Amino acid sequence: MPGTAPITQDFLTIPRKLPEGPVNLVGLTRAQLRETLIAQGTPEKQAKMRAGQIWQWIYQWGVRDFAEMTNLSKAYRAELAKRFVIEMPQVVSRQVSADGTRKYLMRIAGGHEVEVVYIPEADRGTLCISSQVGCTLTCSFCHTGTQKLVRNLTAGEIVGQVMVARDDLGEWPERGAPKNETRLLSNIVLMGMGEPLYNFENVRDAMQIVMDPEGIQLSRRRITLSTSGVVPEIARTAREIGCLLAVSFHATTDEVRDKLVPINKKWNIETLLDALRDYPRLSNSERITFEYVMLKGVNDSDADARRLVQLIKGIPAKINLIPFNEWPGAPYERSDWGRIEAFADIIHKAGYASPIRTPRGEDIMAACGQLKSATERARNARRESPAEART
Ligand code: SAH
Ligand code: SF4
Repeated sequence: MPGTAPITQDFLTIPRKLPEGPVNLVGLTRAQLRETLIAQGTPEKQAKMRAGQIWQWIYQWGVRDFAEMTNLSKAYRAELAKRFVIEMPQVVSRQVSADGTRKYLMRIAGGHEVEVVYIPEADRGTLCISSQVGCTLTCSFCHTGTQKLVRNLTAGEIVGQVMVARDDLGEWPERGAPKNETRLLSNIVLMGMGEPLYNFENVRDAMQIVMDPEGIQLSRRRITLSTSGVVPEIARTAREIGCLLAVSFHATTDEVRDKLVPINKKWNIETLLDALRDYPRLSNSERITFEYVMLKGVNDSDADARRLVQLIKGIPAKINLIPFNEWPGAPYERSDWGRIEAFADIIHKAGYASPIRTPRGEDIMAACGQLKSATERARNARRESPAEART
């Protein structure tokens, strides 16, 4: 099982004394939860069992009130309620697109807001979650990249996005819960705001919680983490999370990638590909998704398609072509449809799956790379009419 050792190291740094004020239990790993209960006064001998019970209430049954945890004594429940809270991000607004895509604006501590998008499809329902408020990287085609990083999300805020979406979908299971295939929220993609590998520990802990067999129970094969290419964290992602990996590739020469994805200046295409080559073996996963945004006249030629095929040779891969989603003031245009299809065709003939990602939720600015503009629009709307934007 990936990841167990470093989690233990992390919680050892937590003092056995509770901080002032109520502690949020959401986002603590199992080990941290146990430690926290001990610090509150739960006898050490009982702490593991109590942590397991509370864990199941929170993550398996979606309970938010200690009073409902009926397999704990009344006195213990009252004690818990005095010291702890079960808190999630607050939904500020919720929009539903004509195609069924739901976009939530969620408020987290400090008044910051992140966007979370739910995309229903015939065979799955995917939740796109955020890992940071803003992003430190400055990819030139991405609107999130024009917003400065405000802060990393905590593990609780990351797992909280999933829990809030499940609330909205009414998907806390009765006994005999539906299996993954029939769930409304069956997949998670870390493709919202932020670079998840620059917030590694919190993302890892949140995904460990989401994957836990006595909780939300999503398989690691139903979680895809997208990175712009933070090379030193890639092997660690394989070992400690073990989820599927997507990489924002977007160019076939260092010259172009330096401009589109500036982190390329630190870890160039060759270095990135070396790290990716090891990923399927380390994570025991099948293939890597290469994301490739189609920008007119920038990276969309036949020569680019052929170079891409050459570069990824030997890596089990799928190439996800993303028609560029425009945002106000964007310095690029979306490639023509015919160009995208011709590009896809070359890749397909070389033996790789090359789906073209249909933009979802464009009418509510929920598509890839549009997230910042959506936040700002909502913020403006609230300024004008504070009552209306709330749900
Ligand atoms: N920071 C991570 C994950 C978030 S971005 C990363 O860069 O991988 C999720 C995906 O949306 C990335 O592949 C990103 O390159 C892509 N994207 C960003 N802006 C876009 C836009 N305007 N149009 C289409 N895709 C975009
Ligand atoms: Fe950050 Fe990803 Fe946008 Fe680049 S594409 S600026 S890494 S969110």
